[in-house]
Amino acid sequence: MNHNKLTIVGLPTDENSSFMRGPALAPARIRQALFGGSANLTSERGVDLGTGERWVDGGDLKIDPGEQGQKQITAGIQHLLTQTDRVLSLGGDHAVTYPIMRAYAEKYPDLTILQLDAHPDLYDELDGRRTSHACPFSRIMENQLAGRLVQVGIRTLNAHQKAQAERFGVEIIPAWEWEQVLSLSFDGPLYISLDIDVFDPAYAPGVSHHEPGGLSPRDVFTILQTVEADIVGADIVELNPHRDPVGVTAMLAAKCVKELLARMI
Ligand code: MN
Ligand code: MN
Repeated sequence: MNHNKLTIVGLPTDENSSFMRGPALAPARIRQALFGGSANLTSERGVDLGTGERWVDGGDLKIDPGEQGQKQITAGIQHLLTQTDRVLSLGGDHAVTYPIMRAYAEKYPDLTILQLDAHPDLYDELDGRRTSHACPFSRIMENQLAGRLVQVGIRTLNAHQKAQAERFGVEIIPAWEWEQVLSLSFDGPLYISLDIDVFDPAYAPGVSHHEPGGLSPRDVFTILQTVEADIVGADIVELNPHRDPVGVTAMLAAKCVKELLARMI
């Protein structure tokens, strides 16, 4: 019997975005870029993703508003993790990572998270909302859903989030130090949370929060291709199609799907 090792799932939700809606439309746009015929399904370093039955597209989860939606994400990922070893989620805004981690922590205790992001997303609350996409990594760390959180590409650390990072023992490699730490290696299972705004907005205009001074596609592909780790799960979040009129950011996200798949199947 063939065993699909990995399931791709879409998380069409953006109600926890603090600034602009749009990422709920991202799963469909990423699939369109991935399967639209303009590129083949081979990763840069030669893994053919289009053959065999090593991964499957599980469609989108149904996500209702409010707390119910958070529960649906956790239950949906829990279910997929009984069917396959690994899940690659297409967001959605970054708030999805907390309910995803609630499911992941059961199957993979002592997980390390590698977060690629312009923002630490460590607010205790933002605008009175603890479910905001600015908060998921505070929820993850205070619920002890990860053994270790390493953030790369950060360039928006304010005093509150710096205090939160210290409180939770978060390891931060800011955008200006990235080139000094070109190799990353982790023991134990690794989860990669890829916020598209880690890229410089010149490469990835299709995000809600443009934050200049980001990583290049080549920087991020190097991380995805060379990180020494057993990558057991990943999410790609914060693509906002409203700001991506020619689809260049969706194609970048689709390419990240391919490079992640090549490491995970
Ligand atoms: Mn984020
Ligand atoms: Mn971000």
